[in-house]
Amino acid sequence: MSEVVRGRVEEQLIRLRLNSVAARLDAVLSDAARKEPTYLDFLDGLLREELDAKQKRRIAMAVKIAHFPVMKTLEEFDFKFQPSVDGKLVRELATGRFLAQAENVLLFGPPGVGKTHLAIALGRGVIESGFSTLFVTATALLAALARAHAEGHFAEQLAFYAKPKLLIIDELGYLPLERTTAHLFFQLVARRYERGSILLTTNQPVTEWGQVFGDETIAAAILDRLLHHSHTLVIKGESYRLKSKKRAGLLGRDH
Ligand code: ADP
Ligand code: MG
Repeated sequence: MSEVVRGRVEEQLIRLRLNSVAARLDAVLSDAARKEPTYLDFLDGLLREELDAKQKRRIAMAVKIAHFPVMKTLEEFDFKFQPSVDGKLVRELATGRFLAQAENVLLFGPPGVGKTHLAIALGRGVIESGFSTLFVTATALLAALARAHAEGHFAEQLAFYAKPKLLIIDELGYLPLERTTAHLFFQLVARRYERGSILLTTNQPVTEWGQVFGDETIAAAILDRLLHHSHTLVIKGESYRLKSKKRAGLLGRDH
């Protein structure tokens, strides 16, 4: 008889989509038989287990959708090595609260100082807080926009990049843009302005953006919208990539 009930419980758990508990039903039951929790504690543990499993699955799925090139976390970031990074601000941003007002985050700094690392770690934090994120390099983004424009489906492509709660655009400024491409980028920034946050990393100070976009007016229009509601982090330190090389004596002190 108890086998019948057990089978029915499993089936009901599955129908209620409590799949984790359903899969671990025997373990859950024998654990309870051993520990003899109160009814309330038993129910509490059961529900917590299911919620934890659901949260893990949701995060794993959202991380997949985000297309991070690698995984990086804030725990792995050595704030002591890069004292110009405001750790308190970074941890606040990782909560994703800035998304509520569609504020932007701009990370400036030379190569190797951890801009991409922080962008990914913040994206991960935002996902953990329950928001969707998409990571794209500036090069890939601009190529996609230009291609869509040429092929006549720019509106759909724009809608695609307008959708995620946070759009991370990595490494703007490594290549100067064509004016027409700069204008497509402007349209994306204008579309997300006050509606969806952008997290942008760049090796170029704003004074160089005219060069990057090949047009001072477009650069100013883009900057205006990006900076209006924004948090900026200017990283001034040296490259983390070169740190170990320097230790090994491969590079002189000035590099
Ligand atoms: P950037 O995007 O600024 O060029 P990256 O974020 O790609 O630099 O950093 C280069 C490498 O060094 C990455 O592997 C990154 O994880 C690591 N790194 C950079 N800064 C730090 C840091 N402060 N602590 C730990 N690892 C770091
Ligand atoms: Mg980078």
